[in-house]
Amino acid sequence: MSTPPGSAIITHLHDEGFEAAVLEGAFNAVDPGVRPDAVVRPRTEAGVVAAVRQAAAAGQRIAVRSGGHSWVASSVRDGGILIDLGELDGIRLHPESMTAVVGPAARGAQISPLLEAAGLAFPVGHCGDPGIGGFLLGGGLGVNWGGWKPSAFSIRSLRIVTADGEALTASATENPDLFWLARGSGPGFAGIVTSIELELRPLPGAIQVTTWRFPIDDLPTVSAWIVAASPRLPANVEVSLVTAGSQRPGGLGDDDPHPLVVGVAATVFAADEDEARAALAPLGDGPSATSGGALPRASGAVTVLDHLPPTFARLSELHVPVDATYPRGARYLADTFWFAGDLAEATKPLAALMRTAPSGRSYVLSGMPANGAGAQLLIPGEAAYGMHDTTLFIVYVVWDDPADDAANRAWLDEVAEALLPTSTGHFLSEADIRAHPERVQGCFRAVDWSRIQQLTHRYDPAGLFHGFPTARPPER
Ligand SMILES: Cc1cc2nc3c(=O)[nH]c(=O)nc-3n(C[C@H](O)[C@H](O)[C@H](O)COP(=O)(O)OP(=O)(O)OC[C@H]3O[C@@H](n4cnc5c(N)ncnc54)[C@H](O)[C@@H]3O)c2cc1C
Repeated sequence: MSTPPGSAIITHLHDEGFEAAVLEGAFNAVDPGVRPDAVVRPRTEAGVVAAVRQAAAAGQRIAVRSGGHSWVASSVRDGGILIDLGELDGIRLHPESMTAVVGPAARGAQISPLLEAAGLAFPVGHCGDPGIGGFLLGGGLGVNWGGWKPSAFSIRSLRIVTADGEALTASATENPDLFWLARGSGPGFAGIVTSIELELRPLPGAIQVTTWRFPIDDLPTVSAWIVAASPRLPANVEVSLVTAGSQRPGGLGDDDPHPLVVGVAATVFAADEDEARAALAPLGDGPSATSGGALPRASGAVTVLDHLPPTFARLSELHVPVDATYPRGARYLADTFWFAGDLAEATKPLAALMRTAPSGRSYVLSGMPANGAGAQLLIPGEAAYGMHDTTLFIVYVVWDDPADDAANRAWLDEVAEALLPTSTGHFLSEADIRAHPERVQGCFRAVDWSRIQQLTHRYDPAGLFHGFPTARPPER
């Protein structure tokens, strides 16, 4: 393949630097074991158009990368061209129209400080480093997702290069089918997004965070406390519950008297301090706090290992403690499970599962979007992203040594076996879809899955794009 106009670099298999071009841009250190034939890094949308046309003419399939944060390295595929959009990372704010236009490789941690300085906000990801392109295509579970909905619902329009090498705009009024598809089909999207117009919001005047940590034995009481408080927590309070091991950030490692803990974080996105205080009030001072009967209380005493009272936080810094749980250079597996039951019901098997984890860095993040109203949060059929239920678990398996790969895979399999019987579906961006391609369908409502398949066939009839990762390369 010759260098398409507007491309910064093209690297071929066996060239010096090829391995780095493929692997260094992928966050997960686990090597998927396949390679494309070449990597192209376009500098402009015209460069993307040229690369798509050349690949199509040469009969080569295309994989796409924005920020390289797919857990399953879905941009690394067997054969064909990897179009790496790393150069398309511009951010342009338009405060007068409350919009921003961003390149797909821009990161949340780059976007939020600029928004904050302009008194604006967007539901950026909880982690600062994923590319906004892949994050939004997968639906985007960003900050305040119960209040602001998954982030893809704050896209106004996208620029897309299609399989026939045309660049077009997709929005609610222009190419609405592609707009629908781009908001949720993630690594299955049949096109290349070259820029995204975001709808912004006023920066909340009082973002506050409060946290608690308890020994894992208190998990039932802690979960019951959150469930009891949830009906009175407004949607702009985001509560997450984490079960983590002794190698967690801030943990004491082997000397930790409480190697397994339950962490609870509540973040409120309020206009002012009074609103923030009122919004957090249903959580009281914790699960066993005395509240004069006005606040919900769970039965039984708990041991509070530490507690941070409500403290102001900046939008641009919310990702910092989250990023610490995803060390660079580590090996990862991730999987996700939706449940119709509440957090107390869903967390029942968790303590026992955490005790068998081979790595003390692995953890399970759980929460109820919109504090239990997640199943009603979205308008059915509004976008491809639509699989939403009451409680979501995201399992992160984190380790360093390749010799431990099999043990960690076996643990994730054990967790999945325990959770699948009651799970109602998965979250595409963090599901274990390479090892389990059958999870993909479970990331969508049945009616949406049919529409995704129809639209994919319409926009990419020859299968130019690799599409959803598969365990084995498909026959062409
Ligand atoms: C540390 C970490 C933290 C995360 N935290 C969150 C979180 O808080 N919330 C959340 O929702 N998700 C989260 N994720 C998941 C993340 O959003 C997805 O993996 C997402 O796909 C990453 O986007 P990316 O552009 O960096 O990935 P990439 O690996 O570059 O892309 C993944 C796939 O998406 C498709 N794609 C990407 N960009 C384009 C494009 N421009 N045009 C067409 N197709 C494209 C391609 O098929 C590509 O293979 C996290 C992932 C990691 C590794």
